[in-house]
Amino acid sequence: MEERGFFYRDTWAEVDLDCIHKNVASVKQLLPNGVEIIAVVKANAYGHGDVQVASEALAAGASYLAVAFMDEAMALRKKGIAAPILVLGASRAEDVQYACDHQITLTVFQMNWLLEAQKHLKTDSRLSVHIKLDTGMGRLGIRTKEELAEFEDFISRDERFHLEGVFTHFATADEPDQTYFHQQFELFQELVSALKVRPKYVHCSNSAATLRFKSNAYNTVRLGIAMYGLTPSLEMEPEIPFPLNEAFSLRSKLVHVKKLHKGDKVSYGATYEASGDEWIGTVPVGYADGWIRKLGSQEVLVNGIRVPIVGRICMDQFMVRLPQELPVGTKVTLIGKDHHQFISINEIAKKLETINYEIPCIITSRVPRLYKKNGKIVEIKNYLLQ
Ligand SMILES: *Cc1c(COP(=O)(O)O)cnc(C)c1O
Repeated sequence: MEERGFFYRDTWAEVDLDCIHKNVASVKQLLPNGVEIIAVVKANAYGHGDVQVASEALAAGASYLAVAFMDEAMALRKKGIAAPILVLGASRAEDVQYACDHQITLTVFQMNWLLEAQKHLKTDSRLSVHIKLDTGMGRLGIRTKEELAEFEDFISRDERFHLEGVFTHFATADEPDQTYFHQQFELFQELVSALKVRPKYVHCSNSAATLRFKSNAYNTVRLGIAMYGLTPSLEMEPEIPFPLNEAFSLRSKLVHVKKLHKGDKVSYGATYEASGDEWIGTVPVGYADGWIRKLGSQEVLVNGIRVPIVGRICMDQFMVRLPQELPVGTKVTLIGKDHHQFISINEIAKKLETINYEIPCIITSRVPRLYKKNGKIVEIKNYLLQ
């Protein structure tokens, strides 16, 4: 596949679908037989591309998808995804009929919501729901057995609701201290066993819990960050049972190269000053692409060598100090491998004092995504030109 005609700026993100495939397959292999995988593809698959990741995850053994909001589920349906999709977050009760029409499964956790939803469901509709239990995350969910019993009864009395699942979410599954995790898990067990009828899907594990506590998986896990080849936390890195393959790279090309002399300045505020003769390259990536100003002290890879960013990052461009004169068009790697060097998403996360989850998510839709399989480009998504 030829890149020409798909995008017109020399900046792109590469998503290696083979990595997604391998990561899902490794998790599948790790889990006890029969445990299903819900591939979490919210937030445009953590910035990687929703339909591309969803399709690959399904091909690799996932059987269900999850997103945060109904819009994300509808987007997947529009792109031809037929697999079941669970909306993990809150949806509007007024919108239930749309969820039904698109066979989207909703998360439920409020009595008033059910009462309101009843008003909006046609008589012959059937809405699949998963009950969310709050076992200590303090975000969404039912917290007591009494509430749960009332809730279950209500659902069972209305044919239009189909109780398909029950789940909870852990707050500390990636932390070295396991006390709170076990506390949450115990409460989950207690609440699940209080149900009169156990639904088809019982799930609690995110990536961290899946990788660390595979026997606690019940019959389904929700796999997010590990599918993208990233560790849920730095602390649990030594506990990852198989190599994770990082799928996301960010690349660009030098669009201008010039020689500066001692005292010449670079970028807004003229904060960088050349200390002698220096080769300065311009890279067409800026904070509007998610390469935020705080990355001003980051390095990038050029011909397998780390080179420093100099001067302030602009909205659309930044400058680097090159070891020598290099031709315009030379590839620049901001995230990913180049020759034997590697800039990991963790490195960028550390620089930004945040978690790896945030990094691909903040690379904006101005950056086209290139999809690779077997080293070949199989699809190019330019959000600007759709
Ligand atoms: C995002 C999310 C996940 C995925 O978590 P990872 O740590 O990325 O595996 C699972 N469950 C819920 C409810 C989520 O919101």
